[in-house]
Amino acid sequence: MSDFDGLAIAGRVATPDDPDWEGARAAWNLAADQRPVAVAFAESAEDVAATLSFAAEAGHRVAAQGTGHGAAPLAPLDGTILLKTERMRGIEVDPEAKTARIEAGVLSAELGAAASQHGLCFMPGSSPDVGVTGYTLGGGLSWLGRKHGFACNRVAAIELVGADGEPRTVDAGNDSDLFWALRGGGGGYAVVTALTVELLPIAELYAGALLFDAAVGADGVKAYRDWAAGAPEEITSIVRFLTPPDIPDVPEPLRARPLLTIDAACIGSEADGEAAIAPLREIGETIMDTFGWMPSAGLSGIHMDPEQPVPGIGDGMTISELPDEAIDAFVAAAGPDSGSPLLLSELRQLGGALGRPAEGGGALAELDAGFVMYSVGMPMTPELGEAIVQRLDRLEEAMGPWSVGAYFNFKDRPTEVESILPVEVCERLAAVKRRWDPDDRIVANHALGAAPA
Ligand SMILES: Cc1cc2nc3c(=O)[nH]c(=O)nc-3n(C[C@H](O)[C@H](O)[C@H](O)COP(=O)(O)OP(=O)(O)OC[C@H]3O[C@@H](n4cnc5c(N)ncnc54)[C@H](O)[C@@H]3O)c2cc1C
Repeated sequence: MSDFDGLAIAGRVATPDDPDWEGARAAWNLAADQRPVAVAFAESAEDVAATLSFAAEAGHRVAAQGTGHGAAPLAPLDGTILLKTERMRGIEVDPEAKTARIEAGVLSAELGAAASQHGLCFMPGSSPDVGVTGYTLGGGLSWLGRKHGFACNRVAAIELVGADGEPRTVDAGNDSDLFWALRGGGGGYAVVTALTVELLPIAELYAGALLFDAAVGADGVKAYRDWAAGAPEEITSIVRFLTPPDIPDVPEPLRARPLLTIDAACIGSEADGEAAIAPLREIGETIMDTFGWMPSAGLSGIHMDPEQPVPGIGDGMTISELPDEAIDAFVAAAGPDSGSPLLLSELRQLGGALGRPAEGGGALAELDAGFVMYSVGMPMTPELGEAIVQRLDRLEEAMGPWSVGAYFNFKDRPTEVESILPVEVCERLAAVKRRWDPDDRIVANHALGAAPA
């Protein structure tokens, strides 16, 4: 007899007594040690509603999770039911309306493939198996971002179950405060069961990555910075120091080899893309050049993000601009001769539509910064984990003079809410939280609905 026998759902409820509990409680980020009281694997909006109603009766909190990519700031989940949506994977594309209705557990690559069949494209980020819902609720920094803004501002409607257990559909005309909050303010106000997202008529584009030896160092990053300053909004790009792990999944010549990589997606013709990328090829001898004309579904492969769960300790901050001193500081802390134990440290270019208020936009209507920096390491031993944390601290201190806050989806460590969004936005989010979840039933990875200090 378990305390959760009363939780009747079509999906499954796992508890610590189950033999597969370790797998049930795990997140995509294997370094997140989640210890909820139970895990509900919902299969429908009805299951979500039943879980929220049960939690309210039993005095538990509820944390929704698509994949657990963003789980690091969420653990340990004391007294909380972890509500996994990974079984909710329905996708309906409406090619006429150029929209897709996706259930809460759909992955980025799944939506990319479904939209691509109709010559359409969602706003994908770099990871193929990130959950569209969590990615979008936190903003959604996409390969198409400098031209088309954050993914959260291309959401037409959100189906959800409120903390009171009631299903609702919110949009610009219905419960618009909740609709606003969920678009960039994270998921702490309700449990989303489906999103209707706009699709763009982008069937193919020029995209890929250039891999150089990391020895190109600060000169390479400065050349990238100068190139990026003149790049049109059709191009969104990333520069990073990357040392691929020494494992069989990585092609032999790249294993444990310190690299500088530049990835980009270029909306427009193949010739325009080729011409735009050409100057980057002059930075040094390329070890690998994956640029090419590809279906938009290929975007989630160009950054070569892992496609299965891995342990990671990471963190990020937003950077106003990159003068030479900032690049020198970045390279000294994360570059080839820095002794950094990190897997990667990267700078993603913002600007363009990402920096302009989206019309009718959500809580993240714009982001006023030049770049977002993100770094992560794989804690294969406790000692390495400690070294990674120390290096993240050192890197953030080195880049502190140029830091202007944080971007929700790349903030992996707990932080003050007002470092993620402006204080007046946080106050509005707190009002939404008080209205829709007055008992603080719903737990999110970043509690942006908590009143700012
Ligand atoms: C390898 C990698 C690459 C990434 N690339 C990008 C990128 O290019 N651009 C970018 O913007 N971000 C990127 N991210 C960050 C990623 O978008 C966030 O970690 C995001 O939170 C992941 O969403 P998820 O649903 O997969 O994760 P989860 O950990 O499952 O969800 C994160 C949070 O979202 C909320 N949430 C999820 N589902 C629901 C729901 N149904 N209802 C209510 N709330 C919900 C919860 O508060 C949850 O704690 C990347 C992360 C990794 C690890």
